[in-house]
Amino acid sequence: MEITTNHLQRLPVLWLNGREYFVDFNLREFRSPANRFAPAEFFPFESARGQAFWAQYLIATCSRCGAERIEPRQASGLKCQRCGQWVLL
Ligand SMILES: [Zn+2]
Repeated sequence: MEITTNHLQRLPVLWLNGREYFVDFNLREFRSPANRFAPAEFFPFESARGQAFWAQYLIATCSRCGAERIEPRQASGLKCQRCGQWVLL
């Protein structure tokens, strides 16, 4: 469990409707860990829901540390997983 958590923390994360989704480019899927309100979720980039996500988000580079990040095309919040900078658009 700890190894999985550490792995997930290196991935870009995006927030949608108050829930965080890790973007795994190796597995090509979005993953949201279980929390007290909902079970874990995952779905591939190529799925209809994945395509809907990419219609709302794009890949950008952190202005502070240069790490890749997921940037909403419309208003939302995100956090750089490398340096912790919050970006509100
Ligand atoms: Zn950064």
